[in-house]
Amino acid sequence: MSDYDYDLFVIGAGSGGVRAARISAAHGAKVAVAEEYRVGGTCVIRGCVPKKLLVYGAHFAEDLKDARRFGWDVPECGFNWKTLRDNVLADVDRLNGIYQQTLDTNSVTTFHERATIAGPHEIALASGEKVTARYILVATGAWPMVPDIEGAEHGITSNEVFHIDEMPKRVVIAGGGYIANEFAGIFHEFGAHVTIVNRSDTILRGYDTQIRDRLLQISMVKGINFRFNAPFEKIEKNEDGTLCVRIKGGDPIACDLLLFATGRQPNSKGLGLENAGVELDDQGAIKVDEFSKTSCESVYAVGDVTNRVQLTPVAIREGHAFADTVFGNNPRKVDYTNIPSAVFSHPPIGAVGMTEAEARNKLGTVKVYTSDFRAMKNVLANRNERALYKMIVDAATDKVVGLHMIGPDAPEILQAAAVAVKAGLTKQDFDDTVALHPSMAEELVLLK
Ligand code: FAD
Repeated sequence: MSDYDYDLFVIGAGSGGVRAARISAAHGAKVAVAEEYRVGGTCVIRGCVPKKLLVYGAHFAEDLKDARRFGWDVPECGFNWKTLRDNVLADVDRLNGIYQQTLDTNSVTTFHERATIAGPHEIALASGEKVTARYILVATGAWPMVPDIEGAEHGITSNEVFHIDEMPKRVVIAGGGYIANEFAGIFHEFGAHVTIVNRSDTILRGYDTQIRDRLLQISMVKGINFRFNAPFEKIEKNEDGTLCVRIKGGDPIACDLLLFATGRQPNSKGLGLENAGVELDDQGAIKVDEFSKTSCESVYAVGDVTNRVQLTPVAIREGHAFADTVFGNNPRKVDYTNIPSAVFSHPPIGAVGMTEAEARNKLGTVKVYTSDFRAMKNVLANRNERALYKMIVDAATDKVVGLHMIGPDAPEILQAAAVAVKAGLTKQDFDDTVALHPSMAEELVLLK
């Protein structure tokens, strides 16, 4: 008989928590998980999945226009936001059911309520019940940050954006990261007038400069407005429900919707972490070692709450590695090198490895190969939008250390190419591969 109610208690049934719970149970552990909102977490309920479905929905605006150049007789088309919204939310419900089923079939007990830590082995549930566990895993994710400015309550975040009732005519998006640029594309394609307001003078920090400049240029040509170096002063709500966004050193912007996409902070507040002596860093992230163990022997943490790399596949890997380490007798660390990432903007971006600037700093001599081209489909469609592929090569070893792409389907192509970068293949290996013609991806093996 165990001294505890459970071998493992997971707080948060998102990407990391569900994977950790399921694999730990498969290793024979008695597992429970608490979820205060909906099983599936951010990615499934209000992140990657509904967002990508909106990106698909938005892309029809361009496809329908381009179809005419390909001979299709497309009558004037209208867009119905409520139809798309409700279909997307129905798919989210479907996935939520699948996630719950996964937990149930693996005999994981689900508590549909908030949980906090009462001690190194003790969990307090919102209902007042207390349970004990040999190990506790904190997988509570991250939460959208809203700047502390007057009238901020008139804006919404990505938590609410999937539920709005009407498609706004004028949207202001605060932020310059991937979520801001993705929603700028979505709202723009749905016909809204979009302004991105950013505190600094760049978008997509961390991505290769040439690639982000290309997105900026294409976005501006499409009609998306940008205000850089523009900190917010205050937000006023007019009697008719519209908003006036006041920014320092610039004209006020009138809009119908203000979306804050100003970063996500680790969801570590009010969790009772101090009751187990779990330490946080200065960003509020839970400090962990390479096996995701916190400063308390019996408490582990994975995913966004640890602020290592805030991406779903990373949270999943961390959850899986935790389960194998603690319950599978197979200690495993997550390898954080060469993690591919995407921005589902219009057009999208895919990237893996070092940017040109990083490679120059780290390696000294690098070779950079680029292909700046108009996709065949865009040429016939009269769409003046150029793709840019960029390969960064370590001059000393010929190893490809970075790939950065913007253009149609870039994330789909990049995922496959990331295998080559991760495997340490060389520019010569790419050159030795026969092109698949005609495709956009063939540019990767034809770089001169
Ligand atoms: P989450 O999935 O956030 O799960 C945490 C869960 O814990 C939540 O369900 C929460 O309700 C619950 N919880 C919190 N506190 C408690 C408590 N005290 N008690 C009980 N339950 C609690 N990543 C990608 O890889 N690709 C993308 O395209 C992408 N797009 C995104 C788009 C948006 C708009 C957003 C917001 C995020 C996106 N992400 C994307 C990031 C991705 O969603 C996260 O990295 C991922 O969900 C993190 O998983 P997690 O397990 O750490 O936390």
